[in-house]
Amino acid sequence: MGELLAKQRNFFHRGYTLDIHFRKEQLKRLQHAIEQHEQELLDAMYTDFHKPQTEAYATEVGFVELELKLTLKNLIKWTKPQRVKETLLNFPSRSYIHFDPYGVALIIGPWNYPFQLLLNPLIGAMAAGNCAIVKPSELTPTTSAVVAKMIQEHFNDAYIATVQGGVETTQHLLKQRFDYIFFTGSTQVGKIVMKAAAEHLTPVTLELGGKSPAIVAEDADLSLAARRIAWGKFLNAGQTCVAPDYLLVHEQVKEELIQLLSHYIESFYGEDPMQSPDYARIVNERHFKRLSGYLKDGVIRAGGTTDLTQRYIAPTILDQVTWQHSVMQEEIFGPILPVLTVGSLEEAIHMVRQHEKPLALYFFSSNSQKQDLVLKHTYFGGGCINDTISHLVNPNLPFGGVGQSGMGSYHGQSSFDLFSQQKSVLHRGTWVDLPMRYPPYGDKLPMLRKLFRWL
Ligand code: NAD
Repeated sequence: MGELLAKQRNFFHRGYTLDIHFRKEQLKRLQHAIEQHEQELLDAMYTDFHKPQTEAYATEVGFVELELKLTLKNLIKWTKPQRVKETLLNFPSRSYIHFDPYGVALIIGPWNYPFQLLLNPLIGAMAAGNCAIVKPSELTPTTSAVVAKMIQEHFNDAYIATVQGGVETTQHLLKQRFDYIFFTGSTQVGKIVMKAAAEHLTPVTLELGGKSPAIVAEDADLSLAARRIAWGKFLNAGQTCVAPDYLLVHEQVKEELIQLLSHYIESFYGEDPMQSPDYARIVNERHFKRLSGYLKDGVIRAGGTTDLTQRYIAPTILDQVTWQHSVMQEEIFGPILPVLTVGSLEEAIHMVRQHEKPLALYFFSSNSQKQDLVLKHTYFGGGCINDTISHLVNPNLPFGGVGQSGMGSYHGQSSFDLFSQQKSVLHRGTWVDLPMRYPPYGDKLPMLRKLFRWL
């Protein structure tokens, strides 16, 4: 790893990546590589955990392709030094922000979106002119192998390389001195990454998880809410960082909402979701067992069946759940939706605020005052009013967490900005040199004070 890093650092110092045309060429090469490997990638994700091909295309391969297209279209604009307003104190001058690459970036990915969550940050790193080592998840070995093969076939490893392996490999990587670390994964491992980065004072982005609530008010369009919540929750069998983790629903509409949710589960996945081609499996036995343990909490209102041989857990709704239940102690990250009842919106807001700031929050209501109230009084990474997950689809919205759900945000231009060091440069005019700042100061203070107050 040390050797690979040295090779990349050397490549970086030679300055190839500073050339915008080089960056564009390499991004196009990535585009071509993805096109070439598209079916192989979709098949690999199906092999790893039965990820439905339509979902794998929309949320992984197609999603990355859109990001690439957007980046290629805007790269020249993004990389241009940005002129900013002057201050009279520096008269005469011009000021610019230059966007410099950091150097060699390390990108560590999770298993749940094993392609997108590795490749989207990579696009940002490349666009900003960095070299990068990507470390895919060991829990999706088939997809990780295809990604590694694709990168190896299309890129010089002195520029972009993959390192495969488990926890130990990641720990070795983290001992090296990188210039930027981009990590997507659990809050627990995020802390390990940040500690390791602190050793070298390497800047980090942490894209973590948490318990993201969906709040449903009594005036919401319940049928639409149920359909959109069921979609967001059971997409990828609930193994989505921004999936609604639990429901906070007004007591007046709880029964109707549960019935509607059950209805949409059946309309999406049929009477027996195990037979559905559109429903994923749990990634491994450890997570299957962890999730199965939650089924003893509360009262099962839909689903609740499991099959270890297939690592299948039915889309499940748990009613009468309280914060004391084990399902409410950690991020669920699976197809189990606990329902908690509240008597008012204020109570729901209070509950959210009593817990860690979530990665996402979803609020369903047709009342704009209530919408404002929720937005003003809850803190979360990003979210939607009257929908789930879709905020991710807009590349103009920076995506990231806050507090325990992460730090830093990316997508679209935010990715370019994230992987760029903003270098501030002042060009000072030479035709005049006002004497105000130079000693001896004599009686300049009153005049200086006047000037500062006037500015
Ligand atoms: P994880 O933290 O277990 O693993 C992520 C990466 O860290 C893997 O590549 C793994 O090799 C490495 N790793 C694991 N343990 C390590 C250790 N002790 N030391 C060093 N490296 C270690 O996460 P996961 O299970 O792959 O993914 C699920 C988590 O990721 C969930 O919490 C989910 O919410 C979060 N997530 C967040 C986002 C986001 O964009 N914010 C997206 C997807 C997933």
